[in-house]
Amino acid sequence: PNCSLFSILNEAYEKSPNNTAVIDGADRWNYKTLYEKVAALADSLSNKGFKQGDKMLISLFNSKEYITCYFAVQRLGGIVVQANPLYTSSELNNLIIDSEATWVVASTNQQEKIEKAITNSHVEQIFVKAKSSPTASSFEELIKEGLPYQAPKPTINPKEDIAVLQYTGGTTGKSKGVMLTHQNIYSNIYQNYHFTVKEMDKKDEKILGVAPFYHVYGMTAVLLLAMFRRTAVICVSRFEPKSLLDLIRKERPTLFSGVPTMYVSLLRHPEATEEAMQSLKLCMAGSAPLPIEIIEEFERKTGAQILEGYGLSETSPTTHRNPTMGIRKVGSIGIPVPNTDCLIVDQAEGIEALPNGEVGELLIKGPQVMKGYWRNEKETNRTLKNGWLYTGDLARMDEDGYFYIVGRKKELIIASGYNIYPVEVEQVFYEHPAINEAVVFGVPDPYRGETIYAAVVLKKGESVTQEELKVFLKKRLSVFKVPAYIEFRSELPKTSVGKILRRELQKEIKNLNN
Ligand code: ATP
Repeated sequence: PNCSLFSILNEAYEKSPNNTAVIDGADRWNYKTLYEKVAALADSLSNKGFKQGDKMLISLFNSKEYITCYFAVQRLGGIVVQANPLYTSSELNNLIIDSEATWVVASTNQQEKIEKAITNSHVEQIFVKAKSSPTASSFEELIKEGLPYQAPKPTINPKEDIAVLQYTGGTTGKSKGVMLTHQNIYSNIYQNYHFTVKEMDKKDEKILGVAPFYHVYGMTAVLLLAMFRRTAVICVSRFEPKSLLDLIRKERPTLFSGVPTMYVSLLRHPEATEEAMQSLKLCMAGSAPLPIEIIEEFERKTGAQILEGYGLSETSPTTHRNPTMGIRKVGSIGIPVPNTDCLIVDQAEGIEALPNGEVGELLIKGPQVMKGYWRNEKETNRTLKNGWLYTGDLARMDEDGYFYIVGRKKELIIASGYNIYPVEVEQVFYEHPAINEAVVFGVPDPYRGETIYAAVVLKKGESVTQEELKVFLKKRLSVFKVPAYIEFRSELPKTSVGKILRRELQKEIKNLNN
């Protein structure tokens, strides 16, 4: 589609002005209200000097303010720089310097941090949610200003113009700014839409917006998909199982797109019952591996079905999904979304497709594939080759064309010459009744090259020994896949979207051993 992101809101406003668009606490805005707030903010920003191509860093949790800013920037032909509101001032400073953002919006309680973060940067204006101060304008006052002035309409080239700089989470190293064009993101909304539309009833549809919008998954597959479908998104600023369950009972959302750790904690909550989850017609999961055990247990307990998908920041994000119509395979990421080509290739040998069933690196081609990394030609050339995106993930395809992620290339453990995929071992840990969470990785070993290390968290009130766990694993895995060390922890380090920070743990253990 040759459309700008702002056209999504414009269309919803023109066709369904009275549909509820945003639910944020006690506030309910329909599309007319949202459109008017966006227009007012865009006018004010333009009046203050915001030009097409300017970058605004948004450091807000899921909220009506986030949505208003996001679309006001799009209305002016600007670029949204996504940022996690929990970043420290030095993390923000890196992001601001690297992205060259000249505008920042954040909540009032971040003001001090933001002021530190803009040292040595080109930031001209800061906006905060509440009252203005000598150094920052208030977002609400800007909306209220109601200028007699109308911001000029930019001419956007959806194929070329960047709409969002999406910094990758940094699970595997230094953060890179992924350049996503209007066309990249719009195509992906369309690709997601085609997989969900048949199941949904637009009139009473409500999407639970708990996956963070500053992450690519929450942005496209939750927020923008809701706007595209002209349905309501319920803003949840932080995930907490009890309050989420209360909200589900109150607002009765129909669609929930969560990340694996959300499903794990919901499952462990006694109130996550069939009765509580009644309204959910569809649950989707993506962004990290979801253990089969968790899917099955969740479905048994709540009666809701989880459809797994897969994607990455570099692909806006969705490339694979289990379809709502047709066969769903538990443990598979599903089939490619429309207009997406995939190849599985030998890791060492270029772009010859491997025979079906063999594990290799997954390559993607499609309209959702990024333009490149911002000011990082080296990484762009390493990742985009011959029109293919090298995902860095290892996958296989079965005889029906369903894909399975077996792990990240960089996380493959090679012990005594055997290839071990951490996810396979983790899946078995999750089958054990005492295990709440598990992570597996390789640590250097003078004899084997690498040896397997596991860190686990037990369910409340459960106990099990390392030896008992090893016996359990040996019954289900070849002996070379059984970790040499199993460490018990009270929790595992995670990213803000709940991905377990495998590398961080690995580094910690390596440092201990040195
Ligand atoms: P990096 O630091 O390398 O950018 P990230 O996790 O921060 O990693 P994202 O773009 O947020 O970057 O996540 C993409 C990655 O998440 C994929 O490459 C894949 O490894 C993992 N992933 C996403 N969905 C799934 C899934 N359903 N199953 C397994 N892994 C998944």
